[in-house]
Amino acid sequence: MEKRKTNTVVSARKDSFETLLIHNGSETDPATGALGTPVIQTSTFDQGDLSEEKEFDYARSGNPTRKALEEAAAILEGGEKAYAFGSGIAAVSSCLGIFSSGDHVVAAEDIYGGSRRILNTFYKRWGMELSAVDTTDIENIKRALKPNTKALFLETPSNPLLKITDLKACLELAADAGITSIVDNTFMTPYLQRPLELGADIVVHSATKFLGGHSDVISGLAVTRTAELGERVYAVQNGFGAVPGPWDCWLVLRGIKTLKVRLDAQQASAIKIARYLSAHKNVEAVYYPGLDQHPGKTIHDAQSSGPGAVLSFKTKNAERALRFLGKTRLAASAVSLGGVETIASYPVRMSHASVPLEERLRLGITDSLIRISVGLEAVDDLIEDFNQALE
Ligand SMILES: *Cc1c(COP(=O)(O)O)cnc(C)c1O
Repeated sequence: MEKRKTNTVVSARKDSFETLLIHNGSETDPATGALGTPVIQTSTFDQGDLSEEKEFDYARSGNPTRKALEEAAAILEGGEKAYAFGSGIAAVSSCLGIFSSGDHVVAAEDIYGGSRRILNTFYKRWGMELSAVDTTDIENIKRALKPNTKALFLETPSNPLLKITDLKACLELAADAGITSIVDNTFMTPYLQRPLELGADIVVHSATKFLGGHSDVISGLAVTRTAELGERVYAVQNGFGAVPGPWDCWLVLRGIKTLKVRLDAQQASAIKIARYLSAHKNVEAVYYPGLDQHPGKTIHDAQSSGPGAVLSFKTKNAERALRFLGKTRLAASAVSLGGVETIASYPVRMSHASVPLEERLRLGITDSLIRISVGLEAVDDLIEDFNQALE
């Protein structure tokens, strides 16, 4: 019955990825035989006569349901340690919390807006420096490096224009320079891309998106390549305490089981929709690494096993973009992505509303741009719906 063992983290890695989604150490509860991971709703744990140190003492420091999610995440990303957080941005900010005043961070200029914001506000106030550069050209990273550079923060494909950064080359550069590299892998998930295998030190996730997969939970994860880095992230997780509750961990664990089948279907539809949009007379441009004309396609194909289920496109003008959002029957006009339902976002008013106009235009984020997260609806229904919304 002793099935839930810590060392499954190592032994289970022999299985293929889709098997690991189901069998990642948490599949059978040793106490009851339950196939579902128990939700241990408690804040504290009885320590008996204190004669021995128990694994769990207080739920900010550790909780069995959270541990099951953390072990699953470590296995799926191929890391030594993983930590779950109350949101994706809590995972990002906690990982940045391992650095010190005076440290310099080089980040992709189009990382998730919330990640950029915490670097530009809180961490700047606490004495950290940020250089935001276009990481699609590694020379920009080289130029930005300084003697006090301690971290490289990457995200590929980027949001919302799906720009591709060469992970292997950039992560090698970081390793050579002795810099800790962090990759936000939210768009790809470990099913399609595993940055730790390409040399990253830490992978972060908004588990709110594809891992949870059902638009019903806010959650985050950080996975570290080494146990030593894991200890440093754990010190922030426990010290700052941005931890998720057990129910949220359970929802993400449940979502993970179907990650492959969901993403396979969503990606297949995204490819069809990208092709459909590319041929539409009212569409000016489509941004999707699955299209041959995407400038980053070769690099993306080399470092991932698929283009994913998020794409963006430009209509002729803002009026048409807003009309599309108003007329689409199946896509929700909303922020977020990665759920079973199709979501259409309007970056200039949503995710990138806080980016100054000049900067936004320099990045190519115009008021005619729409981002689509393709869901599990029948693709023909989606295309028919988009067709009427684009007229
Ligand atoms: C949503 C998102 C985040 C932030 O995650 P939350 O769960 O919303 O806090 C970080 N990075 C990327 C790429 C995201 O899409």
